[in-house]
Formats: sequence, C-alpha cells, structure tokens
Amino acid sequence: MPWEARADYTRSVAVPKILLFYVFTPLADPEALRLWQRDLCTSLGLRGRILLSPHGINGTLGGELADVKRWLRTTREYAPFRDLDAKWSDGTGDDFPRLSVKVRDEIVAFGAPGELRVDEDGVVGGGEKIGPDELHELVAREEVTFLDGRNEFESRIGRFRGAVVPDVATTREFVAELDSGRWDHLKETPVVTYCTGGVRCEVLTSLMTARGFERVYQLDGGVVRYGERFGDDGLWDGSLYVFDRRGSVEFSDHAAVLGRCVDCGEPTSRMQNCSDPQCREQLVVCAPCGGQSAVLCEPHRASGVPSPA
Ligand SMILES: [Zn+2]
Ligand SMILES: [Zn+2]
Repeated sequence: MPWEARADYTRSVAVPKILLFYVFTPLADPEALRLWQRDLCTSLGLRGRILLSPHGINGTLGGELADVKRWLRTTREYAPFRDLDAKWSDGTGDDFPRLSVKVRDEIVAFGAPGELRVDEDGVVGGGEKIGPDELHELVAREEVTFLDGRNEFESRIGRFRGAVVPDVATTREFVAELDSGRWDHLKETPVVTYCTGGVRCEVLTSLMTARGFERVYQLDGGVVRYGERFGDDGLWDGSLYVFDRRGSVEFSDHAAVLGRCVDCGEPTSRMQNCSDPQCREQLVVCAPCGGQSAVLCEPHRASGVPSPA
C-alpha cells in the first residue's frame, strides 16, 4: 500500500466519540471555569457545547477518543467536577459545527434559577435516583407512571411505553405545566421521570417534589444509560432524539419506528427543522419528503409559504 493511502487509512480508523456530561455542584467563579474549559477544549480540538452556572456544568463534546478521554481526566482533576457524570456514544467526527462555552443562570433552562438548591452532593430535594435494573424491579413491584421530562417533539420518535408526555415545546414551559394542576392526579402515585442523559430530571424532580409530588423517581443516566443496558428489549420504544448532527440514535437493529412523516404519513425516525427559516420547530419528516420540498409546521402551514430569511 502506498504511503499516501496508508496515511488516509490511519485517519479513517480514528475513533470519533461523543461525551454527554454534567454535575450539579456549587461553583464560585463560573467565568474563570469558562475560560479554562474553552482553552482546554480548543487545545484538544473538541467541538460541542458547554454551559456553566453557579450550580454546575452541563454539556456535550465531540472529538477523537484519546482527546475526549484527556478532557475528561483533566476536568475531573478539578475537585468540584470529580463526580462528573459522563456517558459515551459513537460520533461521526463531524457532529458539532463549533465549540461554544457559555456562562448562564441555569445549566438547564427551566427558568427557575432561584428555586434550585445545590450543595456538594448535588441537587437538594430531587427525586430518588434509580438505574435501569432498579427501574425494572420497581415496575415489576407496582404500577408506575412514566413522565417524559423532555420537549414534546423528542417523544414523537421514541419514548417509554405508556409514558405521559407533557405538551411542552421547551424546558422553560415545565414550571407552568406543573402549576397548571394537569398532573395533580399523579401526586400520590409513583412517577418515574426520564430525559436524554438525566440532567433535566435532576431539576424537574426537585420542582415536582417542591410542588407536593410524593413519590418521584428519576432515571439515573437517562435514556442513554437505559439503552446501553436494555437496548430495545425492555420498556423503551423507538429512537432517541439527540441535540447534535446525528439527529437521533438507535440502540439496536430492531428499534421500533414510532414517528410518522408529517407530509406523507410514512413511518420514519428522521427529524428536521420547519422550513421557515425563523422557526425552531422540529418535525418528523421522511428522507424523500425532506429532500423534495419545504416542510412546514402547523402554524406555518396555515400561514402559507415560508417567509423569506
Ligand atoms: Zn414523507
Ligand atoms: Zn414553523
């Protein structure tokens, strides 16, 4: 094999990985940590998103396996990040357009930064954490309600069987949803919340507990860790929506296809943005329909052609 070809081969066998991580812990100087993290990620060639707040760190990064490992080792050397919860998955090598490291009021945008309490052990007053195996034990023992802790659109292509799905377009709408009284009938029954990697449920379950929900559990490690353990042979159906260029991931070759194309009705797990350039709505659209023409969300469909950018 010529040397040039061999060099290309070496590049192609590189191992692109994606890391999903968070930890709730009091941080005195998030801005200083932002500068440190930005430089660290840049020096390792990582891309993705990191949010820091006085309550912790939350993010997702993509890069070479060896580089992401170095990031994780270095980041965990900082004592407050020692217990960083990290979940690996396979990337494509081009999963994020850029690196973004920001300081915000919240590392998950519930719009309730004043309500969240965090100490060295994490979120104060959250639901009991249960792993995939404990979840199965609980379900075998009693009747539980699964509450989807994600945005409604994420559930269209995958969810726990029988889950109730609050009608929220963004995480910010959860507080109003809980205060609406719509879920009060669940206050005395066992409720298991779940989200992609567990970070949203940390906050959601603390908000629920504060509002009188008495038996709240949160799926530790989220759907990602559940999928690693049980794949498509447990209580989960379909694909998992992810916030990077992969769009969604499956846990096996026999994942159920729950989504239906908004245009033609064919089963698909593919999602794309509403074609109106101003719109952030995510729609289930099959590849042929997505390739053919503009696909609009309901409000934009009603108002006709997409407005110019
Ligand atoms: Zn279609
Ligand atoms: Zn739209």
